[in-house]
Amino acid sequence: MTDTLPNIQTKEGQEQLRQMGIRVIPQPDDVSRPFWEAARRHELQIQRCGSCSAYQHPPAPSCRYCHSTDLQWAQLSGRGSVYSFIIDHRLMVPGFDKPYVVAQIRPDETDDDLVRITTNIKQCDVHDVYIGMAVEVFFEDVTEDVTLPQFRPAGSRP
Ligand SMILES: [Zn+2]
Repeated sequence: MTDTLPNIQTKEGQEQLRQMGIRVIPQPDDVSRPFWEAARRHELQIQRCGSCSAYQHPPAPSCRYCHSTDLQWAQLSGRGSVYSFIIDHRLMVPGFDKPYVVAQIRPDETDDDLVRITTNIKQCDVHDVYIGMAVEVFFEDVTEDVTLPQFRPAGSRP
């Protein structure tokens, strides 16, 4: 028995972490907490400036465009399109056991090409994902406290 932690940089270490059931879980902070609380209710909400109406994501303490601190949380439909993506075959993050997609989604409500939601795309083959693909949100309850907004091809059913 050893008390050293597996080396995350190696394939063997990744395999050990997988066997230990270790998975990376988001840690909400004061600024991002409303996003994660909405996700627990299975709602997708991002910040919207009360002064200039711009949407922004990831969350920040003030508006990136006009610097107002009058930020609201706006409900989104959960529909969007793939702006960019990668397929991770090397499994560099523990908790994944086969190739997975990390994508940036542009929500349908935002037409300024400035809001990106980073997520996984699931419920389809990783090789079926393409830029511009229509997607919709679904919610994955990973622990009692954390629910992940994830995306799948629009119109798919669980
Ligand atoms: Zn603003």
